[in-house]
Amino acid sequence: MVDANKVKSNLQRMTNKVVSSTTGKIQPHKHCRICFRPIKLSAEPRVCSDQACIDRNIRDEKNQRQMRIWMFVFLGIFAFSFIGPLLLR
Ligand SMILES: [Zn+2]
Repeated sequence: MVDANKVKSNLQRMTNKVVSSTTGKIQPHKHCRICFRPIKLSAEPRVCSDQACIDRNIRDEKNQRQMRIWMFVFLGIFAFSFIGPLLLR
């Protein structure tokens, strides 16, 4: 039979562990979005001081911006295909 008290204490120890790991010694910090190394909370952009990560971040941001522009273009075309006929009528 399972000892209820033992289970309870095990559960308590487990939850204590979780709580102490989230509120314990670890200082609030962010992680580099490329290599996930811990970085300063104030680090902006969210990358470490590694040049490779900085370059990668810049490239990713450029790609993202380009993607957004294309999305707007397609959205514009899509919207125009709806509104265009109404205006031309
Ligand atoms: Zn990094």
